[in-house]
Amino acid sequence: MNVPKSNLPRVVVIGGGFAGLNLVKKLRKLPIQLVMINKHNYHAFQPLLYQISTSGIESDSIAYPLRMFIKKQQNFYFRLADVKEIDPDNKIIKSDIGDLSYDFLIINTGTKTNYFGNKEIKKHAMPMKTIPQALNLRSLILQNFERATVEADIEVQKFLLNFVIVGAGPTGVELAGAIAEFKKSVLPLDFPDLDPELMQINLLEGADRVLPPMSEHASKKSTKFLKELGVQIHTNTIVTSYDGKLATTKDGKEFATRTLIWSAGVIANRIDGFAEECSEPRTRRYYVNEFNQIKGFKDVFALGDVALMISDDYPRGHPQVAQPAIQQAKNLAKNFPKILKGNTNLKPFKYNDKGSMATIGRNKAVADIKKLQFGGFFAWFIWMFVHLMSLVGFRNRLVILISWIYNYTNYNKGSRLIVRRYSVTKRRIRTNAEL
Ligand SMILES: Cc1cc2nc3c(=O)[nH]c(=O)nc-3n(C[C@H](O)[C@H](O)[C@H](O)COP(=O)(O)OP(=O)(O)OC[C@H]3O[C@@H](n4cnc5c(N)ncnc54)[C@H](O)[C@@H]3O)c2cc1C
Repeated sequence: MNVPKSNLPRVVVIGGGFAGLNLVKKLRKLPIQLVMINKHNYHAFQPLLYQISTSGIESDSIAYPLRMFIKKQQNFYFRLADVKEIDPDNKIIKSDIGDLSYDFLIINTGTKTNYFGNKEIKKHAMPMKTIPQALNLRSLILQNFERATVEADIEVQKFLLNFVIVGAGPTGVELAGAIAEFKKSVLPLDFPDLDPELMQINLLEGADRVLPPMSEHASKKSTKFLKELGVQIHTNTIVTSYDGKLATTKDGKEFATRTLIWSAGVIANRIDGFAEECSEPRTRRYYVNEFNQIKGFKDVFALGDVALMISDDYPRGHPQVAQPAIQQAKNLAKNFPKILKGNTNLKPFKYNDKGSMATIGRNKAVADIKKLQFGGFFAWFIWMFVHLMSLVGFRNRLVILISWIYNYTNYNKGSRLIVRRYSVTKRRIRTNAEL
């Protein structure tokens, strides 16, 4: 990896998501050689991915180049690499660009989409976990509209205009709301020769209500908002198969669709090399203690979505959202000067739950903040403010703010571009040159 030898202890941070980013910001002043590794050269702000898919914002505005953090920093290196394996006995990480030894290792690799072992669904469904995936979805949605305009057969049009979203957690709900807004505001403008009534948005959820991680109040409110937007909600509905054309459910329902969006669950990006007892088999999250040390190790840590810290308050670990990742990173950074000196008197992690929110189209959101539960315009305003302030980089905040104001005042979505076509038959991107 061509990282120079140094007399300073080498601290390797894998992952530049919420945890990794907040950690390196604090560690870079310490007397260490800091190496950050990530498989993309940017940090992606995942909460706004759905707005890329639905043409609301441009992809660059939620990404932040990780090399910006090493500007004017000594002993801080970034490497664009995919870490494949860790050899904790010899303290070496193995990646697609080579090996690297470490003195301390911090793993913040987050999660990936979980298809629960269903290979057919994995092959045909659309995930939305990364910026390239969100762009694929944007292309597919727009291609469906283009294709539907040239189809004479109403049944084929319906097939192309049926958007099925599996999983009604915050991502599924937000996506359903945004696609429904698209139907209302963009379809009549851009595709006047298509009948908007042929377009359907079906939201499928295995639990008995939408937004299962949030309060009953949030669930009821969001159901009302979604129905007002014309979204058809199917609770207690588990998808068992999808062949790229037809989705079938456990209770025998069928949905003919070219676009099945899978937001039904995630599984940790565990890296091979640790003993089995270091991670939970079902979620693949690493078991960590209250200092985020991986079970059995003093010099290897895991933070954020990939870490499972079991406590009396959180017997199933912390929720896999941004705040635990950010707060764990800050706590570890505070402990790090002591860790470097071999001091074991560390500060245990305590999660401060700031609440959760989800937005459903224009002017509507739901929020559970401490004991307060509310929905509507005020919640939407808070949702916007929180997301804007959480974005990394002033430029990104400014661009998003301008996009939102523009979209709000114009009832128009700006980024309706098929920059690279998505090939449904091959389920891979083909470049324009290939097409
Ligand atoms: C669509 C969507 C919407 C969401 N909305 C919200 C929301 O509204 N509010 C909220 O709080 N949370 C939300 N979340 C969850 C939130 O984004 C995560 O909880 C948070 O990103 C976790 O931070 P992390 O640092 O643990 O992992 P991540 O932010 O996922 O970062 C992991 C990083 O590790 C890198 N990586 C992974 N494997 C490797 C490897 N082998 N080698 C090198 N690099 C690797 C990845 O490229 C990535 O940069 C949402 C998530 C998604 C997908």
